[in-house]
Amino acid sequence: MRISKLLGLLALPLVAFSTPLYAAKTCELSIDGNDQMQFSKKEMRVGADCTEIKLTLKHVGKLPKAAMGHNWVLTKASDMNAVDAAAASAGPANDYIPKEDQRIIAHTKLIGGGETASVTFSATKLKAGEDYKFFCSFPGHVATMNGAFIQEQASKS
Ligand code: ZN
Repeated sequence: MRISKLLGLLALPLVAFSTPLYAAKTCELSIDGNDQMQFSKKEMRVGADCTEIKLTLKHVGKLPKAAMGHNWVLTKASDMNAVDAAAASAGPANDYIPKEDQRIIAHTKLIGGGETASVTFSATKLKAGEDYKFFCSFPGHVATMNGAFIQEQASKS
């Protein structure tokens, strides 16, 4: 009697603190852009348990937006070049973001030296097994400013 009560008390915290399988989890990522037309990362990863992703881009350079603007745009790898071309047409008035382009999964605004921008998006926009790329859509920057965006898969256990 006394032992079973003790076991019951021990089990209680385990039940209370176990995480629901699909608990909301915002995963934060950060990346820098500089005056040398470079991102600080060539690859970004998010865990399979992230339900939402918050990306923060910081421009650590000094040059103004008009000369060395950076943004962070996420698309399927296969869409990157076409979206980049559309971005050039959209022009600086639109932060080099084509309006209502369904191929863009997420993007920040365009920023200049010393500025920071963030974007939060749902992980449900990502599909398992798809290849994604992040890049800067300022004209000419995609060549050096791009990288792989990887959503890790849940282990099959
Ligand atoms: Zn850029």
